[in-house]
Amino acid sequence: MKQILIIAEIFAGQIRPITWELVAAARKIKNSPDLKQLSLAIHIIVPAAVPEPLAEKIAKQTGMDVIGLQIPGFKAYTNEIYIYCLEQLIREMNPSHILVAHTSQGQDFAPGLALDLNAASISGVNGIRFDEDGLIYSRPVFNNTKNLMVRPISNQPVVLTLMPGIFKPDDRKEKKSGQVVIRKISFFPSTCGNERIQYRRTVKRPGENQALKKAKVIVAAGRGIKKKEELKYVFNFVQCFSAAALGASRPLVDMGWLGYRHQVGMTGATVAPKLYIACGISGSSQHLAGIKDAEFVVAINKNPEAAIFRHSDICITADVIEFIETFLARTKVRK
Ligand SMILES: Cc1cc2nc3c(=O)[nH]c(=O)nc-3n(C[C@H](O)[C@H](O)[C@H](O)COP(=O)(O)OP(=O)(O)OC[C@H]3O[C@@H](n4cnc5c(N)ncnc54)[C@H](O)[C@@H]3O)c2cc1C
Repeated sequence: MKQILIIAEIFAGQIRPITWELVAAARKIKNSPDLKQLSLAIHIIVPAAVPEPLAEKIAKQTGMDVIGLQIPGFKAYTNEIYIYCLEQLIREMNPSHILVAHTSQGQDFAPGLALDLNAASISGVNGIRFDEDGLIYSRPVFNNTKNLMVRPISNQPVVLTLMPGIFKPDDRKEKKSGQVVIRKISFFPSTCGNERIQYRRTVKRPGENQALKKAKVIVAAGRGIKKKEELKYVFNFVQCFSAAALGASRPLVDMGWLGYRHQVGMTGATVAPKLYIACGISGSSQHLAGIKDAEFVVAINKNPEAAIFRHSDICITADVIEFIETFLARTKVRK
């Protein structure tokens, strides 16, 4: 029988929360009008050196059957190990869909896995819909201003990488835990291609910015700020709010204008302020992944078509510097 497989996202021995979003997406696929009558089984694969505790936790929380993929001697993630071990298991399983998180790790191994399985590959999926021809997936293109609708055309399995923050995890409490099965894969580096990648050590990223995590208001600067000197307008804007912190999109951090501790997004901080003010930020999926829990979003952007406006409660079409200058002048007058 065909089945839907979920590759749980495990990092440093912990289950990443995106795993619960993959579960929600798998349920959506299973219950789609054209697949519902097939009653596809869902299995969650947990790759780890010692997968039992993680597998049991996932089985309990989801009520789904879990396969702990035990990789002896597995020290840390590399895509060669993942692809090699997952391929061996998945080839026996006859899946229709393989769901992977569209994170740094998932983006790293999913295309290679699809290639080795001769599967279709759709990356960065931000929507699952159904039409008269069945399931169809959307993914952002043109700097996130448009969505492309994609459908795999063969009966081969499809590997989907799913954007974080799109598929809302279920809050339901499962009465019955799923079953856990442990599958042991013997992993020897020599079986893994030419050992092109070797794990050496894990380097800790600079610590997360507690100020960003605790802030009630975040004012974040993006590439709409054209010169480093113009950041002073954003600094002054932050001062207008109490319990506020400065955030940034990744390009500003990459250019060295602001430290990594200010970066918001998929590879930065995930924040949950009451108010998030995006100043000259386009609204890439990677940035949006970090603000999905923000209560109220205000975006200032000179492009009325900017993707961030589709995720904002208030959309201000303006030059960001002019807007901040006017705002500061008016609040000064009022004081
Ligand atoms: C694996 C990976 C991980 C990533 N992780 C992150 C992440 O964690 N966080 C992150 O932010 N990005 C991340 N990115 C980068 C991401 O894809 C985008 O490139 C980035 O978010 C764009 O930043 P931006 O919106 O500031 O810049 P742009 O996309 O260049 O947008 C600038 C915006 O400013 C507007 N603008 C220009 N001039 C003005 C003006 N005068 N007034 C008002 N508006 C103006 C423009 O209309 C535009 O919408 C990641 C990318 C990859 C591949």
